Amino acid sequence: MKRNKKILNGILAAASVATFLFSPAAFTGGYQTIVSTEAKANPFPRGFSYQKSVPKWNGKDPSVKIHGNRPYFTSKELSVKRSYEKYKDLDSMGRCTVAIADIGTDLMPDKERGPIGSVHPTGWHTVKYAGIDGNYLYNRCHLIGYQLTGENANERNLITGTRYLNNEGMLPYEDQVASYLHSNPSDHVLYRVTPVFKGRELLSRGVLMEAESLEDSGKGVRFCVFCYNVQPRVKIDYKDGSSQGVAYQGSTASTREKTRNSRAAQNDNGAHNYVLNTNTKKFHKPSCPSVHQMAARNKRSVKAKRKTLIREGFCPCGRCRP
Ligand SMILES: [Zn+2]
Repeated sequence: MKRNKKILNGILAAASVATFLFSPAAFTGGYQTIVSTEAKANPFPRGFSYQKSVPKWNGKDPSVKIHGNRPYFTSKELSVKRSYEKYKDLDSMGRCTVAIADIGTDLMPDKERGPIGSVHPTGWHTVKYAGIDGNYLYNRCHLIGYQLTGENANERNLITGTRYLNNEGMLPYEDQVASYLHSNPSDHVLYRVTPVFKGRELLSRGVLMEAESLEDSGKGVRFCVFCYNVQPRVKIDYKDGSSQGVAYQGSTASTREKTRNSRAAQNDNGAHNYVLNTNTKKFHKPSCPSVHQMAARNKRSVKAKRKTLIREGFCPCGRCRP
């Protein structure tokens, strides 16, 4: 009885192996899985590798030039000179993959940014630490900045990024593209931002940013940089975005003073040119990218003392820090 059962089991096992090996369904299924995993895990431009191309963060520069500062765009991609924007699907873990746009002024917004708080990108935590501008460690960070294509709560365009990544890393490059297009309104800039996730981590290690102005073959704007998703003095676990740092103790008079006044306080004695937003009650430097996003009816250019504006109820913009 026992012996018979053993033989029977042996036959069944052999039969199921055979079924597995020769079943076209099993074979095709396996093949498809391999292909799609690779495609999803590796959305990087051909030739770019996080391990090989990106040096470890040096502790002081928010970004580093990659590939000799030349984008990985193909000549085919560079040949299209009309506006479009594409935000690729989230991967199987819900992570952003890549956003690419051929930006012309027709894509740029003329309204102020709308709410984006409804989107919870992977790795998201609402945490505050001392010594961070605005105190929140993480921002919902646009892959393609609002000022360029006017996207609000698009989950395929928002990642969890540190304040440092957002403001010190990415913003200066976004501004470069925006100001080129403002002075060359009939031109286009091919622009691609790829968040770089390692393995199955939920928080990106940073973003690869590439841009090239098309009509002048990159003379106006051309860069290929990696911006690090780090925050000085905060330890981050990229597996899930959890972190450790110096506890935030509430805003004291002195930290408030620092965040608001920062660099500008020293040249505060004379009158300067500012742009007011009469709706948000913020004031900006004329060069601030927010000025271009402002509705004309809310915009007012003034020459005034900083102190006077604050006394009249206006707040300095957090972006240009006038
Ligand atoms: Zn501003």
